[in-house]
Amino acid sequence: LFAGDATFVMGVVNLKQLPPADRTEVCFAGRSNVGKSSLINALTNRAKLARSSAEPGRTRELNYFDIGEGQLYLVDLPGFGYAKVSRSQTEAWTRLTKSYLRGRPSLRRVFLLVDARRGLMDTDEEVMDIMDKSAVTYQIVLTKVDKVAKGEVDKLASKIADKLKKRGAAHPVVRMTSSEKGWGIPELRAEI
Ligand code: GDP
Repeated sequence: LFAGDATFVMGVVNLKQLPPADRTEVCFAGRSNVGKSSLINALTNRAKLARSSAEPGRTRELNYFDIGEGQLYLVDLPGFGYAKVSRSQTEAWTRLTKSYLRGRPSLRRVFLLVDARRGLMDTDEEVMDIMDKSAVTYQIVLTKVDKVAKGEVDKLASKIADKLKKRGAAHPVVRMTSSEKGWGIPELRAEI
């Protein structure tokens, strides 16, 4: 991942529109307002690459970004649990993301973002169930850790790590990040 080397490729609303699975893909998922766009923008050093779920627009689509001129796709999944959408839109989201997560051969890892103030919510566990069933490799990334006392973050991280171990997850290491402070960003970038 290089600074300024990330560009928007396309928004996908229907799986038929997916680009060919011809390169490694990593994906970012999380509840609305978890800090997903802030994190993607921090990772790519682009202030407005990813859009916040608080803004209308591209946020109901799978957004594809090109990283390093063809090296990698970074995929921004629409945030889940957004209060302002209808039931039918929620169902459409579930169908799209489930079939994407289940059937994308080039998807190497999903970063599931969890707000450090809230911890794992039921919807996060539902997404983890889908990924466990489809053998998708994922990793939990805590966001906004600057908002929580260090001791609390550590406690939450080890609680989540225990759950991941019980599930037999490939990446029981929980990453701690703050896009606002820049904490954990270089480490996550290096991992990608
Ligand atoms: P998204 O809906 O998941 O894309 O979330 P956003 O990136 O738009 O962030 C939602 C809100 O959380 C915004 O008000 C951000 O300013 C705030 N936020 C995001 N990341 C951080 C962080 O690391 N620390 C703090 N304190 N606030 C953050």
